[in-house]
Amino acid sequence: MKVLVINCGSSSLKYQIIDMDTQAVLCKGLVERIGIEGSVLTHKVPGKEDFVVQEEMKDHQRAVELVMAALVDPDHGVIKSLDEIDAIGHRVVHGGQKFAKSVLIDDEVKAALDKCTELAPLHNPANILGIKACEAVMPGKPNVGVFDTAFGMGMEPKAFMYALPTKYYEEYEVRRYGFHGQSHDFVSHRALDLCGGNENTKVIVCHLGNGASISASIGGKCVDSSMGLTPLEGLIMGTRSGNVDPGIMQFICHKEGLDIDGMLNVLNKKSGIFGLSGNISSDFRDVQKAADEGNEKAKIALDAYRYRVAKYIGSYAAAMNGVDVIVFTAGLGENDKLTRQAICDEYLGYLGVKVDPARNDVRGKETLISADDSKVKVYLIPTNEELKIAMDTVKIVSEL
Ligand code: ADP
Repeated sequence: MKVLVINCGSSSLKYQIIDMDTQAVLCKGLVERIGIEGSVLTHKVPGKEDFVVQEEMKDHQRAVELVMAALVDPDHGVIKSLDEIDAIGHRVVHGGQKFAKSVLIDDEVKAALDKCTELAPLHNPANILGIKACEAVMPGKPNVGVFDTAFGMGMEPKAFMYALPTKYYEEYEVRRYGFHGQSHDFVSHRALDLCGGNENTKVIVCHLGNGASISASIGGKCVDSSMGLTPLEGLIMGTRSGNVDPGIMQFICHKEGLDIDGMLNVLNKKSGIFGLSGNISSDFRDVQKAADEGNEKAKIALDAYRYRVAKYIGSYAAAMNGVDVIVFTAGLGENDKLTRQAICDEYLGYLGVKVDPARNDVRGKETLISADDSKVKVYLIPTNEELKIAMDTVKIVSEL
């Protein structure tokens, strides 16, 4: 079965075709600047040179049309006709409380997604545009929605409720949702497979990318997840602050003459390790380089980042009354042995966590990095959100 995976942003579209019989990625690509001058499609087929299409794409439908043309292109394509695509899996950022698992998209689902838009005004409209464009270009193909928020629906009220007037929850669905759900779901289940876990196995997944989040789950069911109503809560990220005292907002708004939107822009785009390092970079490699060269702010930024991750691991071990497995994933988690080693060595000894430096000397490859006498198994597991979307799509389409 061949699944087309689509991840639409407001001006971008990422795609992959995955052959689910072998889990091989036949091709992947990225469309940038949709609706903006200079639209470009970059189509990648393993073992071949990139195929680049520069042509005006006024909307997502035009982008999908050009992607389809690339897929069947005689020189650069990977399929002979669109009939070879069995189904399309869409990443959808916010499913609100309605969608606790992936779903076959129909008119009712689209209407419900429209209603979730106010919870994710930057993301959901683009996801819906992607779905509508695929329906228009490939009528009759099953489209499946896979939600960033679905994994977090496993949380109980004690974990997902904010200590705010309950009216906000009851009338506006203000609660903690957790994001990066495809990643936490995929990686936690992979960890259970690798360690021979069961329904009682307690897993903490540290998804440390540009956006970063951490989850606690037992037997694959989410107990807690660090992101909240929006992806701003929780860990320190590339440019997002993560947790701060909400009182700071009023204080800084007054000092700097900002309104609430301006303040949120600072918290989302100018904070995190970027802000904390004195605007060096949101990329950890640049901040690490500056720290190595003696930059004090860069050192504090990295220390604060690791400290926050460790505090969450400690609190999630408490939330689950123990932890059997800790997993590192995403850009930093998969590639930066220093960060993994420092978090475990500096803060997690009391849990009996011991990372073996030789095993930890690895990048981007599924590996047990803890020592044999570690009380907690520690793994590096590369995340694969696209594969998770394709897996859910196959499951739903096979049940039709
Ligand atoms: P996202 O999907 O959220 O955009 P990624 O999961 O791709 O992010 O992670 C990007 C982050 O991973 C960047 O901030 C980058 O600094 C970090 N990263 C990638 N490779 C390395 C590395 N070798 N060492 C340290 N950090 C790395």
